This record gives sequence, C-alpha cells and structure tokens, in this order.
Amino acid sequence: MSTPDCLFCRIVAGEIPATVVRETPTTLAFRDINPKAPVHVLVIPKEHYADVATLGQGDPALAGEVLATAAAVAEDEGLLGDGFRLMFNTGAYGGQEVFHAHAHLLGGAPLGPMLARDLA
Ligand code: 5GP
Ligand code: ZN
Repeated sequence: MSTPDCLFCRIVAGEIPATVVRETPTTLAFRDINPKAPVHVLVIPKEHYADVATLGQGDPALAGEVLATAAAVAEDEGLLGDGFRLMFNTGAYGGQEVFHAHAHLLGGAPLGPMLARDLA
C-alpha cells in the first residue's frame, strides 16, 4: 500500500533516486540527502505508515523489521563498537517533516547531548 504524493513512497517505487544501502522485502535503508553526521541513514517500512506511532500500533512485526534493518546497517557501517543513535521524529513537537515513518540512524562521530536544549 503506497501513497502517491508521499516522498518516501516514491523512493520505494523508484520514482525518486536514493542511495540505497540495504533493502529487504519489507524495508528500505537509504542515505539522508542532508546528513547531520558522518553516517546518516533513513530506515523505512516500504508500506506507508505516517509515523512510528501508527506503525508500532498497526504492525508491530514490521516495526521490528525496521529495527532489524537499522541494526544490520549499523553493523555494515561499522557503528556497533563506538555506538550510534536511532531516532524517530514524530509530529510537530518531534520536528517530523516527512510523514512516512522513518528511523534516523546516526553515527560515525560523537553525537553530543540527546537534545540541543534542556527543556526540563
Ligand atoms: P524528519 O524531519 O521527517 O524526521 O526527517 C526527514 C529527513 O528526510 C530529513 O533528514 C531530510 O534531510 C530527509 N530528506 C528529505 N527529502 C529527502 C530526499 O528526497 N531524499 C533523501 N534521501 N532524504 C530526504
Ligand atoms: Zn509513504
């Protein structure tokens, strides 16, 4: 199931080019076009879910496959030793810009504090 005006559905369909680093029958991992770290890969379910909340509740097994693909990419990219960050921006407060669920896999350098600002 795909949504024609969704950017990441169009990447899954091959209509928009992307640098794919891993593909499984249900997931796709490709480099972010505007990397925020030496390694910045987006990991998505091929099926359209608007965000990680609808993905996690709608298809927990598929959410797990996204995590498994992220872990495999982390290993391929040599991130397991020094560590990495896996992030799902969700909704307005989360700063989500593309409404097709995606994990940001970030690594290759120390990433600093979890948040830019202390909001507590
Ligand atoms: P969000 O802010 O929704 O969590 O993250 C969306 C991410 O998608 C951003 O990091 C942005 O750089 C990335 N992005 C936006 N358009 C494209 C594109 O056409 N190709 C790729 N590879 N990444 C994109
Ligand atoms: Zn989509």
